[in-house]
Amino acid sequence: MLSAENRQIRLARRPEGEVRPGDWEHVTEAAAAPGEGQFAGRTRFISLDPAMRGWLDDRPSYLPPVGLGEVMRAGSVVEVTESTHPGFRTGDLVAGTFGVQEHVVSDGRGTLKIQPDTASPSTFLGALGMPGMTAYFGLLDVGALKEGETVVVSGAAGAVGTMVGQIAKAKGCRVVGIAGGAEKCALLTGELGFDAAIDYRTENVRKALRTHAPDGIDVYFDNVGGEILDAALACLAMHARVVVCGAISQYNATDGVRGPSNYLSLLVRRARMEGFVVFDYAPRFTEAAREIGGWIADGRIKVLEHVVRGTVDDFPRTLQMLFRGENTGKLVLELV
Ligand code: NAP
Repeated sequence: MLSAENRQIRLARRPEGEVRPGDWEHVTEAAAAPGEGQFAGRTRFISLDPAMRGWLDDRPSYLPPVGLGEVMRAGSVVEVTESTHPGFRTGDLVAGTFGVQEHVVSDGRGTLKIQPDTASPSTFLGALGMPGMTAYFGLLDVGALKEGETVVVSGAAGAVGTMVGQIAKAKGCRVVGIAGGAEKCALLTGELGFDAAIDYRTENVRKALRTHAPDGIDVYFDNVGGEILDAALACLAMHARVVVCGAISQYNATDGVRGPSNYLSLLVRRARMEGFVVFDYAPRFTEAAREIGGWIADGRIKVLEHVVRGTVDDFPRTLQMLFRGENTGKLVLELV
């Protein structure tokens, strides 16, 4: 077989604030052939995740930072092109952390073979992948959601947020989403069945929360941090749970993360605020995927994906879309 070229995106320098084109190196090398017990694959879909911004900083976190000169870490779906691994055959679709590159070689560890008849391959990077798992365990386990409660989710029109709101509806809760722009808010209350939506770009979030959650918030699922977190803290019900999932409004901060000033509301409301990392739930992913799959099949959960078609060279500008609110639902780059 002729050796193919493997286009890759590597980290050239650590960004200050927003990631810039010069922070990346676009490299072409020969695609490697699979060794004994390995398969080679061609990348079909690459996942874009806000967490990627944190992986670029050289500071302690739940994963080591991406090293300078290394291929950018990313979840992706690849199609097997050649295999000496007994568990993988040519044509199989496999999800894994394969990085931003056109061709991969893997021994199959830490990967998931996709059954293409269950859902579109990209859905294994979204509703049935890491964001879906994040919504499920964040809401049900960390948030300890109970039927009939009032749930508020920020970043509500994104990959995790759309799943949080729909899972909460499936569990019989009242759901208020916070998102940027009238179009996203209309989608939440229309197609996705949220009870109310707040446009944080034009509305006073605290006032709107008082209107839409008059008895207080039982579970606040926070994807954005900053001022929106503060507004939600001011509107908690007794024994509320604040789920710290992420804080995208703070990821590009160059002068330190802005902490909440309304935290004493936790005391007054006897509330709890707890963070989590989805990877800790890996042993239970199959259980969650089964339940989410059931909700997708019976129409209670709609899968929202924002697919950008291009090449690995489009990765840097596609990543920026997350920080500019240009995606609705799960953002993926489909290699064409
Ligand atoms: P996403 O919501 O699909 O995309 C990011 C969205 O964030 C944008 O569409 C934008 O929507 C919003 N945003 C960007 N800048 C903002 C700002 N300054 N203030 C308010 N909103 C802003 O991304 P995702 O993959 O679902 O991730 C959501 C959050 O979950 C992130 O914080 C991520 O780090 C976190 N996460 C955590 C875990 C975990 O294990 N804890 C796992 C996965 C994801 P608008 O147009 O509405 O502004």
